[in-house]
Amino acid sequence: MNFLTTARRIIIKIGSALLVDGHGAARREWLATLAGEVAAWRGKGREVLIVTSGAIGLGRELIGLSRQSVKRHLHMEEKQAAAAAGQPKLMQAWEEAFRPQGLAVAQVLLTLADTEDRRHHLTSRAALEELLRLGALPIVNENDVVSTEEIRIGDNDRLAARLAQMISADTLILLSDIDGLYSADPKSDPDALFIPEVKDITPEIEAMAGGANEAIASGGMRTKIMAAKIATGAGCRMAILRGFSGNPLRELEEKSARHTWFLPSTTPMAARKRWIAAHMRLRGILVIDDGAAKALNSGKSLLAAGVKSCEGEFESGDAVEVKGLSGVLLARGLIAYDSGEVKKILGCRSDEIEALLGYSGPAELIHRDNLVLAKGS
Ligand code: GLU
Repeated sequence: MNFLTTARRIIIKIGSALLVDGHGAARREWLATLAGEVAAWRGKGREVLIVTSGAIGLGRELIGLSRQSVKRHLHMEEKQAAAAAGQPKLMQAWEEAFRPQGLAVAQVLLTLADTEDRRHHLTSRAALEELLRLGALPIVNENDVVSTEEIRIGDNDRLAARLAQMISADTLILLSDIDGLYSADPKSDPDALFIPEVKDITPEIEAMAGGANEAIASGGMRTKIMAAKIATGAGCRMAILRGFSGNPLRELEEKSARHTWFLPSTTPMAARKRWIAAHMRLRGILVIDDGAAKALNSGKSLLAAGVKSCEGEFESGDAVEVKGLSGVLLARGLIAYDSGEVKKILGCRSDEIEALLGYSGPAELIHRDNLVLAKGS
């Protein structure tokens, strides 16, 4: 089975070793070839987002923290400084790679809080959807400068998996310096077996990535297994393969190079509905008319026009209940406006929102992707 046949929204994560050479410069030829492969996939109607490492690798030289002069590991502030200096160079390298393909790149910097906090999650998701709709190519990295220990994801394998969860991607590809998962470390164990497909991330599979006490090396197999858990839990399949060859994406598609697939047992949309349901601390109640109730049941979003009343105090991104005129529970969902705003716009057409609030917000009060219908409604 070729899992790419049904891939529609794909995240490609690229490790520093592929992007930055031993002298702290971008590997431009490799980037140019990859850009050609990405453009070919986009030509097939696939959406692509890139998660890129390399800001620290490109930046450290610029601010006097080159590998030669600093033998030790960089501490947190040095990494942040190197990332800040390297990020523009990184984007420049991507821009140059995609320019010949006629593709505009868009820099997106995220932290853990942006993927977890419902409000940031909803606005980031909406902005990414818009970039994809407009045909731009999101190039995502962690926002290293504002990341504190608490809100740091720390490695881009997990950042890519969290992004997959946030935007309901169906496929995540980790381009790495290793070709996939082995039963033991192939460098030290000649009997290590290659594992081409993982349907269930069991404790045995986790053990293959190294013991629980091993330090979480950025880019190691442990972070990849953690990424696989997040991605497959969100309904997204994940592949690991070596990215050094000229055409890694073609190799994955044609199965001409070794790789490991981690397979989910759910779909991105089912997983998202579960995520919404699990985040439910209900802050308010909206009562809607029969027309809006019918629209919800046929899979549409909730618009302000159908809302009759609003109870409770809530922020945008909070969870609310949606009830019918008779008081029956119809749905729960994450709302795009706060309670003060909802009170001003309820009953109004979407094109009146801007005049009423003084700014233009989303047309939907609750987008259908952020709604879970009540059983039996
Ligand atoms: N955000 C880091 C960088 O751009 C990369 C972290 C990682 O590679 O896992 O250098």
